[in-house]
Amino acid sequence: MATPTPATSAMSATPATPATTKDEFVMPVLVPCSHPTPWPPDCFDDIVSVIVGEEKKAFRVHKGVLTYHSAFFAAALDGKFKEGVTQIVELPEDEVSVFQVVYCWLYTGRLYNPPEHPPSSSPSTAAEHFAGAEQVPLFETLICKVFVFADMKIIPELKNKAVDVLHLVTCTNWTFLNHQAHYIYSNTIDGSPLRKVITDFAAKSLGCESFIKFSRGGALYPTAFCLDVIAAIHSQGGKWDHIGREGWAKIDRCLYHDHSGPGGKLRRSHTTA
Ligand SMILES: [Zn+2]
Repeated sequence: MATPTPATSAMSATPATPATTKDEFVMPVLVPCSHPTPWPPDCFDDIVSVIVGEEKKAFRVHKGVLTYHSAFFAAALDGKFKEGVTQIVELPEDEVSVFQVVYCWLYTGRLYNPPEHPPSSSPSTAAEHFAGAEQVPLFETLICKVFVFADMKIIPELKNKAVDVLHLVTCTNWTFLNHQAHYIYSNTIDGSPLRKVITDFAAKSLGCESFIKFSRGGALYPTAFCLDVIAAIHSQGGKWDHIGREGWAKIDRCLYHDHSGPGGKLRRSHTTA
């Protein structure tokens, strides 16, 4: 059974490549999320400002969209703090590149915009079709950062979307998340769905030989990740699963979803309880 290959760059993930360049793999049609968060019906009212990063990049966003999805923004913009008065939220420690992805998601429900014009209206090859339909122009590390942003700002549906896109990229690239392991374990807590994704990806696809080969040298994998992989293997009866690329592609993504609903409503129900 083929195992994922290691990423080639030490600092960033390899860009997504058309799946059909490797084994003519075609992403199967997946079962949609069993508990999707409904999109807000009427929230395009007031405009607020979100100032991001050291460069103080300003984004103008509908307040209703932010406060519907995010408990953090609901607390800031509907509360009695400075942000509630100015209707300006400053995020100096967040990255503009991450918020640009969030901004795209807030208005499209996607983490990226698909190509405006596919390569061909009637693709002649599977690769050409794939390039137009599924190619994800986001690196794995950026997707992980979007998940962490959603986690910190309490936006469950954005976490789910990041998990879905990360899963898609791992399937299409068939490249293990070697260089994301430290980031994931440094920016999430025990039990995080993102930790479960990378742990299951290892336990169900790598195999012992690859795991040792990739971790040799000790720099790639945090200790907590290694322990989680051992626990996952134990839960699998003490053996690596080897479900392969197609098996990984068909895995139920809801295993890694947060189905608690829109974050803003969570915050309001909590504060009014
Ligand atoms: Zn789900």
